[in-house]
Amino acid sequence: MRDLLMDAAGRAIRYLETLDARSVAPSREAVDNLKGLGGPFPERPGDPREVIRLLDELGSPATVATAGRRFFGFVIGGSLPATVAASWLASAWDQNAGLVAISPVGAALERIALEWLREALHLPPETAGGFVTGATTANFTALSAARHAVLERVGWDVEGQGLFGAPPVRVIAGAEAHPTLFRSLGMLGLGRKRVETVAVDRQGRMRPEALQETLQRGSGPAIVCIQAGNVNSGAFDPAAELCAIAHAAGAWVHVDGAFGLWAMASPARAAQTAGLSEADSWATDAHKWLNVPYDSGLAFVREGEALRAAMALSAPYLPQGESREPSQFTPELSRRARGVEVWAALRSLGRQGLIDLVERDCRFARRFAQGLQEAGYEVLNEIALNQVVVSFGDEAANQRVIAAIQSDGTCWCGGTVWQGTPAMRISVSSWATTAEDVERSLAAMLAAAG
Ligand SMILES: *Cc1c(COP(=O)(O)O)cnc(C)c1O
Repeated sequence: MRDLLMDAAGRAIRYLETLDARSVAPSREAVDNLKGLGGPFPERPGDPREVIRLLDELGSPATVATAGRRFFGFVIGGSLPATVAASWLASAWDQNAGLVAISPVGAALERIALEWLREALHLPPETAGGFVTGATTANFTALSAARHAVLERVGWDVEGQGLFGAPPVRVIAGAEAHPTLFRSLGMLGLGRKRVETVAVDRQGRMRPEALQETLQRGSGPAIVCIQAGNVNSGAFDPAAELCAIAHAAGAWVHVDGAFGLWAMASPARAAQTAGLSEADSWATDAHKWLNVPYDSGLAFVREGEALRAAMALSAPYLPQGESREPSQFTPELSRRARGVEVWAALRSLGRQGLIDLVERDCRFARRFAQGLQEAGYEVLNEIALNQVVVSFGDEAANQRVIAAIQSDGTCWCGGTVWQGTPAMRISVSSWATTAEDVERSLAAMLAAAG
């Protein structure tokens, strides 16, 4: 075991140390070579060192350098050094984080991380939380609690009876809600297609007067889904106004803050994030802006009992201790100890480090926008956060520039369509990106465009 782990550590370290010297996108040859991982299912056991050698030699070159400093596609983030190291240690522990009895450390790290997160993100002190795989599952989990609560208020036990014969639940979301929100709603039996959508403004923000009108069009149990951080523009729905309107109508407010919720940590963003603490539930990703390894999402619910009721599980063989049992707050029973890396990220960053990470990436996004605008390209969004949406012309021009940027390999950006206009999207969300990386990447973008 020792030799094997030392060998793997050496390979992982070499991978990270050479990451910034290679193309962000893998070569076609590297991707073709993945065939070498296949072949017939081996008949007999093999040498584990050989398994790791093959994985590194064929697998490492076929990765996209999302762990590096110049990946600006999607909203990916890298992994903070303490979180990669913590993840190695946690893999060695092989803890099942479902129950206190089988992982006191897993449960304790979740408890501590939750305390720190409530404080850092200014969530109400009574907020309960679950450690899940990502924002899709976090939305699903928090919306399960919402579904429980709004139906319980009208005397319906949704966990017991399902939605058969239940009073209808209205689900209201902005026209710019993330596609995964609809998948979560579909899995919950709330339907992807019966969502009432509310008009948004030019930045993709839900319009309060439009929410008011939508709510007035009906009655009964309702869940309003708002957004902190539009996946293209980075814009925040005006939460203070929206929460006041929704709560006056008796609705539950859920926030999809997959990456934007982290802005709540930064006092400089108090105006932008105002009112988010008034919501009833929140979903975010730790694997995006907190920069922990995949996969890691967080579901927060103010009314913890609603989350517990939605996720309740009991059997004589499952011990329930006095303290928080992790599996009472998530859809899974057995799962890896995701609290380990979340704790390590928060412990290593501290409050100031978290604020700096958010603010630094926002500053870099502004610099990208400025550099592109100065070169004559149209930036389509207000730089509200870490996102830049830039157009290089028509659809063909954008595709050409994006392909040239990806094949140059200095950095990586992807395409999008923003309110009908084809564009390229830049997301700055890594702890590792430096001002120099931004200048190098900007130069590469302009060379590809020019
Ligand atoms: C990324 C994202 C999601 C989905 O998160 P996953 O971690 O990929 O499941 C949901 N909503 C928004 C706004 C996002 O940016």
